[in-house]
Amino acid sequence: MTTPRESVVHGSKAMSETLRQLPSVDKVLAWPEVAPLIARHGRHFATAAIRTLLANIRNELSAGQCEYSQAGFVERLAAEIAARTAPNLKRMLNLTGTVLHTNMGRALLPESAVEHVAMAMRSANNLEFDVESGERGDRDSLVEALLCELTGAEAATVVNNNAAAVLLTIAALGGGKEVIVSRGELVEIGGAFRMPDVMASAGARMVEVGTTNRTHARDFENAITPATGLLMKVHTSNYAIQGFTKAVDESELAAIAKRAGVPFAVDLGSGSLVDLSQFGLPREPLPQDSLAAGVDVVTFSGDKLLGGPQAGLIVGGKTAIQRIKKHPMKRALRVSKIVLAALEATLALYRHPDRLALALPTLRLLSRPEANIRELAEKLLPAVQAAVAPKFSVSIIGVKSQIGSGSLPIDLLPSAGLALKPVQEKGAGTALNALSRALRKLPVPIIGRIADGALILDLRCLEDEAEFLSQLKALSP
Ligand SMILES: *Cc1c(COP(=O)(O)O)cnc(C)c1O
Repeated sequence: MTTPRESVVHGSKAMSETLRQLPSVDKVLAWPEVAPLIARHGRHFATAAIRTLLANIRNELSAGQCEYSQAGFVERLAAEIAARTAPNLKRMLNLTGTVLHTNMGRALLPESAVEHVAMAMRSANNLEFDVESGERGDRDSLVEALLCELTGAEAATVVNNNAAAVLLTIAALGGGKEVIVSRGELVEIGGAFRMPDVMASAGARMVEVGTTNRTHARDFENAITPATGLLMKVHTSNYAIQGFTKAVDESELAAIAKRAGVPFAVDLGSGSLVDLSQFGLPREPLPQDSLAAGVDVVTFSGDKLLGGPQAGLIVGGKTAIQRIKKHPMKRALRVSKIVLAALEATLALYRHPDRLALALPTLRLLSRPEANIRELAEKLLPAVQAAVAPKFSVSIIGVKSQIGSGSLPIDLLPSAGLALKPVQEKGAGTALNALSRALRKLPVPIIGRIADGALILDLRCLEDEAEFLSQLKALSP
């Protein structure tokens, strides 16, 4: 753009005039319209925001980009303060189709857990207090009996997450010794959690046996020495080895461990306390099956298929769990009252498996029938069409949701979604990115995924359609 020289001169004159008229920080603080902001957020905070805003406006005026008015300033100040005080952690609508999305907080907690957590946060409680005797108690006891009841374990303990559960189990049972594991199970689950590194961090010497695709019972038997501290099996939750394969099953390994007099631990990753096939979902291994097969310690996640808070659950025999509880690292990895409250309420739902598919959001979303999701897509179609027209066209498509969190990577759930496609082929990629960004910038961000030249909103996890519609109203793509 070219500007006639004269108008530049004229503009810069007007600009310096306006710059001179800009109020001082103290003046702004004295405006009656600013009083409510000071009352609400404090003088110190308001002053900082005013200073930033004045600096911004000065820059914008110098660049010839804005006009100044007092009313406009107050409006921008309110917006600046709103932006500064907005919490960093915020609600989003996860329409990615990945139900247990690690970057979006994984499992949504059941209402009963939310209420129990609120109680535990508001009130003094018996976190480590034995109400019966009036003496100091053990925080694990809040959920231990329930975990034992549900899994058939003799004892149980809880730590920060399943990564911590694995680390602690190896440290307590295999620290300073050799831990034998199959080469086919040297899992990396992302976020720098790799089995060989975990073994090293836990102070154990990893002994790999077998090959990538086949490991036999004799591989374990031949590797056992007086230095062996632990046999370990890891559920390959986020990948599958297919074809000419062989793994040693749990009962066979349990027998080998027993003969050798060493404990045997299994990391199930997600694990599930109920057989998911009854809900039409692919089956994940159950901790109760591992324990029944003779495994001494089973570890699994609290916020994967279990549908609870982030936690690592360790269940098993008395002796092994006792050793784990006594390890100094346990104190560093223990969970808070908030987590224990959420976990207790979540586990309690498993006492009524027939109600689970309704009460547990994770299971409710995973087992949501495709027809039900499609119905929702049809209902929402006109509103979405209106919101993104004329630049985008919207159609209903069949999609595949994922369980997520590394669970069952090859099993996909048939679902339905809305595909938002740029009408013009030219610049379609840019348009899609802009739309995706506009959706992310909404007060409650709507997160979809871009695939096949469209922005796809998988509606499996959309339960609050009123919220979705109200967000659309604020959209200006
Ligand atoms: C997910 C997973 C873990 C880690 O669990 P977090 O609860 O995320 O810490 C460990 N092992 C396996 C096999 C997993 O799938």
